Amino acid sequence: MKFGAHVSIRHPIHMAIDRAVAIGCECLQIFVGSPRQWREIVYAEDDLDRFIEKRRKAKLDPLVAHTAYLINLGAQDMELYRKSTGALIYALRGIDRLEGLGAITHLGSRGGQSWEGALNRVTAALTVALEATERAMILVEHNVGAGGLIGGTFEELAEVLERMDHHPRIGVCLDSCHLFASGWDIRTAKGVNATLGVFDRIVGLRHLRALHLNDSKTALGSKVDRHENIGEGQIGREGFRALVNHPRLRRLGAFIETPHFSADVPDKKNLDLLKRLRTKGPGPASIRGGKRSKQVRSR
Ligand SMILES: [Zn+2]
Ligand SMILES: [Zn+2]
Repeated sequence: MKFGAHVSIRHPIHMAIDRAVAIGCECLQIFVGSPRQWREIVYAEDDLDRFIEKRRKAKLDPLVAHTAYLINLGAQDMELYRKSTGALIYALRGIDRLEGLGAITHLGSRGGQSWEGALNRVTAALTVALEATERAMILVEHNVGAGGLIGGTFEELAEVLERMDHHPRIGVCLDSCHLFASGWDIRTAKGVNATLGVFDRIVGLRHLRALHLNDSKTALGSKVDRHENIGEGQIGREGFRALVNHPRLRRLGAFIETPHFSADVPDKKNLDLLKRLRTKGPGPASIRGGKRSKQVRSR
């Protein structure tokens, strides 16, 4: 598993690479626009080329975007729905231009409408976004499952993927904090294995394309999304040790969005801790022996 962070793109955008390198990132998540405004930023082509060049040298892979937080792909308000779809397309085009893997997005909330109504809106928006773009993936993010949020259960994510005919450019992003807050006990290797087993059966681990690694300030099943520094929250180090060493997750890029994510020093601390957990001691991989690793190799 490679570890990275959500890093600021404060002008000029290519400085994100320097910030990522400074804290020891191996992969990178950025916003391509403004996270809390609909405003689209227009970048100088030179700056974008510079970003690509610097990223190649720094070997940060994968690169992903996170879409604006305002997005609601299930919105019944047509203006919000149109803006949300546009913002998703903007993020996909931006990350395409930067030669990244894709854009991680929240699906939004269903409001007063039925699940079927929300599902129709979400999948229509995803279809439009895929048609408007060429290469980047849309990674739909699992959430804490608080009232009305779309994608807070594995079943809902599976339905979205099925409705999209498992399009190769649609994948899933799991967040450790969201898993825990939505009720999945990932504090132990046993709990991590059980959770991933259910995810594999309902959604399919082959569709999992990115991870967010955040500890949780709030209790198991609280349905409240409050990120904490790795090991300092309710999940704790053992859970992260199991996650980062799990054989089925090893191919993934994992991004921290821990509380101090705008200051460099604590980010480095979180990444250093994850790196120590990754290399120190046997994870579930070696406990489980050869059979499972053979399966992994054959994938
Ligand atoms: Zn997110
Ligand atoms: Zn969160």
